[in-house]
Amino acid sequence: MQRTLSIIKPDGVARGLIGQVVKRLEESGLTIIAMKMIHMTKAQAEGFYAVHRQRPFFGSLTDFMSSGPAVVMVLEGENAIARYRDLMGATNYKDAAEGTIRRDFATDIEKNVVHGSDAPETAAFEMGYFFNAFEITPR
Ligand code: ATP
Ligand code: MG
Repeated sequence: MQRTLSIIKPDGVARGLIGQVVKRLEESGLTIIAMKMIHMTKAQAEGFYAVHRQRPFFGSLTDFMSSGPAVVMVLEGENAIARYRDLMGATNYKDAAEGTIRRDFATDIEKNVVHGSDAPETAAFEMGYFFNAFEITPR
């Protein structure tokens, strides 16, 4: 069993896509074991995306991520990190495979609707960034 952090980014929440994203997650067989809505401050978004602080898009990305409410979730399942990244599709929606969340809903390389952890170490950091032990409810 593996856990991963999912975010429905502010564009996805603003556009009314929470239900459609959650439906795909549940239908995939991944289990949502934690979920809440948050509105990150700029500083919280900078802390979350600290690995990208040298990238040219860091300022814009953290402005976007702190621009409105987002839904954060912990997903659990076998091979959950890779399975969820397959559901999301490539970072750039133009490169994303048919039937993926980003291909179907994203409008922009930055405003790409969802986030997913990319490795067990980043998943552990990201889950701890948003959830304490009492907020995670494995079945
Ligand atoms: P995420 O970490 O959000 O799941 P990812 O792992 O597919 O996405 P990263 O390379 O980690 O992609 O980039 C983090 C986020 O930064 C992207 O999801 C996107 O919102 C934004 N981003 C990435 N590359 C660019 C770019 N070239 N221009 C603008 N924004 C970008
Ligand atoms: Mg990433």
